[in-house]
Amino acid sequence: MIDLSKAITIADDWEEPEGLHELTNRLLEHHPDADLAKTRLAYYYAERAHENQKRDDGSPYINHPLAVATIVAEMMMDDQTVIAALIHDTVEDNEQVSIEAIEKMFGPEVRHLVEGVTKLSWKLVGEFGPQSRKAQETFKAAESLRKMLLAMAKDFRVMVIKLADRLHNMLTLDNLPPHKRTRIASETLDVYAPLAARLGIWQIKWQLEDLAFKHLHPDEFRSMTELVAKSRAQREVDINRAIDTLRVKLAENGISDVEIQGRPKHLYSIFNKMVQQGLDFDQIYDLLGLRIIVNTVPECYLVLGIVHTLWVPMGNMFYDYIAKPKSNGYQSLHTKVMGGHGDPMEVQIRTRRMHEIAEFGVAAHWTYKEGKAKEDETSKLANLRQQLLDWSSDARMSSDFLRSLSTDLFSEQVFVFTPKGDVIDLPKGATPVDFAFRVHTQVGMTLVGSRINGHIAPLNSTLKNGDVCELITRNNATPSLDWLSFVKTSNAKSRIRAYARRVKRDEHAHLGRQSVERELKSMGVEPRDFMGEDRIRDIAQHYDGCQDAEDVLSKVGAGLVTATSVAHRLRGNVQEAPAPQTHRIEAKNSPEGKTLLVSSGFGNLMVRRSRCCEPIPGDEVVGYVTRGRGVMLHRSACPNAIHLRETEPERLIHFEWPSDGSQYPVNLKIVAQDRHALLLDVSTIFAEVGANVGNTRIRTLPNHTAEILVELKLEDASKLSQVMTRIGHYSDIISVLRLFGRGAGA
Ligand code: MN
Repeated sequence: MIDLSKAITIADDWEEPEGLHELTNRLLEHHPDADLAKTRLAYYYAERAHENQKRDDGSPYINHPLAVATIVAEMMMDDQTVIAALIHDTVEDNEQVSIEAIEKMFGPEVRHLVEGVTKLSWKLVGEFGPQSRKAQETFKAAESLRKMLLAMAKDFRVMVIKLADRLHNMLTLDNLPPHKRTRIASETLDVYAPLAARLGIWQIKWQLEDLAFKHLHPDEFRSMTELVAKSRAQREVDINRAIDTLRVKLAENGISDVEIQGRPKHLYSIFNKMVQQGLDFDQIYDLLGLRIIVNTVPECYLVLGIVHTLWVPMGNMFYDYIAKPKSNGYQSLHTKVMGGHGDPMEVQIRTRRMHEIAEFGVAAHWTYKEGKAKEDETSKLANLRQQLLDWSSDARMSSDFLRSLSTDLFSEQVFVFTPKGDVIDLPKGATPVDFAFRVHTQVGMTLVGSRINGHIAPLNSTLKNGDVCELITRNNATPSLDWLSFVKTSNAKSRIRAYARRVKRDEHAHLGRQSVERELKSMGVEPRDFMGEDRIRDIAQHYDGCQDAEDVLSKVGAGLVTATSVAHRLRGNVQEAPAPQTHRIEAKNSPEGKTLLVSSGFGNLMVRRSRCCEPIPGDEVVGYVTRGRGVMLHRSACPNAIHLRETEPERLIHFEWPSDGSQYPVNLKIVAQDRHALLLDVSTIFAEVGANVGNTRIRTLPNHTAEILVELKLEDASKLSQVMTRIGHYSDIISVLRLFGRGAGA
């Protein structure tokens, strides 16, 4: 037994089978430098891996991968694709087979193709007959279609192998029990044939359709076959006569290297037309068709002229798809003329290359591996990618099933590529800024420009399916707040918002530094002597939530701490207040909206909320014993309280103030990205937390932000922090601030 988890070599006495020989010859036709040794090794490896396996008809399993590889080679695909096709089923069918061994023997490209094909196992979709199209099935199917499209868009060769695999399975469908046949055939019609059409691989598309037709509608298929056979004799005579006439005329004009085909019509497409347009067989099938394949574009037009001198062109039936290719890259000249018996005849004229593209679609791009017009091919591929992903834009090519899936799939998402070919899915409407933050936060933070499909594009451009987006960054660049007005992803939003907050903080710290400097100067000392980082850090512990110099200074800048207090501390001339006794506040009543509180610790005492900082239960508070007007309650962090602590510490009483169930007014300032229904969202949170809303003002600023000033009535600080946290969770909220004193409500 050979260990298939390791790289293996071909045994000396092994004889190459005839089928493999034909395959390698076929491969050489279009790829003279194909790696034949590896192709043989791939066959050998697959033969070992499927050794004990049989196809449904009892033949050795290896016939299947060989057939698939041959179809792939007929489509002129490269050696990597053919090798991957030979071993495409080994991973799934033989536990021993390791993907590492495959990479070791055949390289990373083949590994990646095989993995792609294996992952695309349509098992994911499961059985989706008409009866099972429930929401969940659809969701699952949409999800696997999404995976399929992504894998495909990354490397179309994966799908070419998958389609060849399906084609061979359809060709050998007769050996399966009827229910399986029906399922596979309808799946083929629903998913694979439209995919082949999407990729422009008409060769496979019509074969899949006719085979599915045969198994799904056996009676119609049989009668159609008979009808075609009956009319064939006369048609063949007519066609052959036309071909002979044409060939002579072309030779007279020096065109002898030419291929002329009678154009077959495919059964399923005839059937479809009859059903859809309610026409009779005769009305559709009596049309003669000719296809003329020459070497060069000038020859195409020359042939057209000759065709038009031989037969009378029918008015308005000429299309020049050479000068004006179809969006999927299709090129050809189409004309309709009156044939020999006065019957209309359709003629297509194209070059060999155009023919390859028409028949093999995306697969044709691998026929020229190197060299000329590489750029042209690349842009064509990009175009195809977009076509593929823009599924819903071309409903004609899709089955109902795919159409319903793709509406779900693509109405919400776009797929955008990095220049390296990685796919990133984004919400519809996303911009290069969203793309940048998805690639890497640092890329988003230093973004200065973008190129879409090679062209410079503004950062607020809307990305489309299949776009290749290139990002331009600069080391010292910073995000712009304007981006908030167009970014779509919450990730980008929250990053930009965080940046905005940091900038605010830096601004505050800067302002704070200036005012402390001013204060020190007014005290007659040199600020530089007192404002070292270390020195400020040493006093940070005296201020709520401060750890370093930046914290302290930004609090000063934001007006939460006075510059005087900091200056005094920096100079070291502050007496600490003696550790005060804590008393508990219990509210007795609050008549006429004025809060009147009574503290039990001192017997009855009138306590009022100071207007400068409007404390609420749950805040850390101190009371200032006024001269004759009871006790004034401040938040400990209130600049006035701090000042009092320094100047009249003996008059301060420490209080504990639990919630008493009544509501107290608080003012909030919310700065947010201006958008529809912002106020509604915010109010919903107020309602859910149980806060009552008083005065509210909303102001729109020119930089697309909105400022909401609102007075809330709520029980205590924990309710308030709930409100602030929940509002802060909205990705378009820039800041939520509690306002104190004069800034509030004004
Ligand atoms: Mn297979």
